[in-house]
Amino acid sequence: MSLVVQKYGGTSVGDPERIRNVARRVLETQKKGHQVVVVVSAMSGETNRLLDLATKVAQNPVGRESDVLVATGEQVTIALLSLAIQDMGGEAISFLAHQLHILTDSSFMKARIKSIDSTLIHQSLNQGKIAVVAGFQGIDPEGNITTLGRGGSDTSAVALAVALKADDCEIYTDVDGVYTTDPRICPEAKKLDKISYEEMLEMASLGSKVLQTRSVELAAKYKIPLWVKSSFNQEEGTVVTQEDKDMEKVVVAGITQDLNEAKISVRHLADQPGIAARLFQPIAENNINVDMIVQNVSEDGFTDITFTVPKLDLKKALEIVQRQKNQIGSGKVEADEKIAKISIVGVGMRSHAGVAGQMFKTLAAAGINIQMISTSEIKISVVIEQSLAKKAVQLLHQAFELGKE
Ligand code: ADP
Ligand code: ASP
Ligand code: MG
Repeated sequence: MSLVVQKYGGTSVGDPERIRNVARRVLETQKKGHQVVVVVSAMSGETNRLLDLATKVAQNPVGRESDVLVATGEQVTIALLSLAIQDMGGEAISFLAHQLHILTDSSFMKARIKSIDSTLIHQSLNQGKIAVVAGFQGIDPEGNITTLGRGGSDTSAVALAVALKADDCEIYTDVDGVYTTDPRICPEAKKLDKISYEEMLEMASLGSKVLQTRSVELAAKYKIPLWVKSSFNQEEGTVVTQEDKDMEKVVVAGITQDLNEAKISVRHLADQPGIAARLFQPIAENNINVDMIVQNVSEDGFTDITFTVPKLDLKKALEIVQRQKNQIGSGKVEADEKIAKISIVGVGMRSHAGVAGQMFKTLAAAGINIQMISTSEIKISVVIEQSLAKKAVQLLHQAFELGKE
């Protein structure tokens, strides 16, 4: 008998009728002779509602108590789904993370799973029950509730699939699979039949929220094929899997946009050894992720440094830079939140030249100014003005002929 892990996202469990739809689907899977573990997210909008609520009582709601709060969303859906399955004559049992010892580190709101005790789930499955598990949450060694970062139920599902040695891991969502770009931005976007772990990892970390980055990392590490499918139809979906020869033929697999970064420019810095370290070290020590960095060519011994940080960390990063400013004797510090990072991703870039040129030419022809550039072997990212993001994605999608035939 094979074991299947299915994850249903927020929209898929967004109202009572949709929860009953999921109940029917998992019962059908069980009837086909599989053992079924279902991971669910909170009902759509619920995690945002809880986070908003927290800001009504506290200026900066972070840490342990925020996780106690947001983890409640998933508790509601596991209970509702289990009740719906039982109502349809099936057997189901719900589990919160602590009941399965989904052990994480103690980084509240971005915890990482370390281990899962699969005993209880195997017991329930062997009794013919469907195991319904709360996604997004874990428990740290001290017994505190933790959460895995936004979109974290994807990671719960993959981690469970690894721990249970599942035969299949399926992520059900509100789109039919992974598309060449977000179909909400570009209606011409085309569904991909398959995509490599490496490409999906880049797309996820560069803004495509269809899968949480960490879930792809885990799937790649344990070589688990990850299916992305719609919870509203029976289409084939997309499989995220190991790279093959066909994938290399495609130069650009997908395009992403990320609107969640902000840019900081530090002007008139002395162009001397050690200055960058003194600027970036305290930022790193405060756990702030710096993404792109550009340093201008020095003029008269002075230079400008521009870098991006997550918007959520902008305030803190600015405080740090202002503090360092006096010590390192820099000029003005400027911040810009109205930026977008647009990226093109594809393993085919390794063996095809001229991709960057075509990207820049396409943007230039539309009068879109590139503020920053960064590249890796399989991706090119540019920072542009936020109001032009949608247009840029659509133009690049066209230029690289990614649309439907
Ligand atoms: P869930 O609640 O099921 O986890 P998410 O909202 O987290 O769903 O992710 C699904 C959404 O991801 C889609 O509705 C789509 O707008 C967005 N998305 C972004 N990029 C892509 C892409 N390349 N392919 C498919 N969906 C994408
Ligand atoms: N409910 C959580 C969120 O909204 C986790 C998830 O949906 O995967 O981020
Ligand atoms: Mg999601």
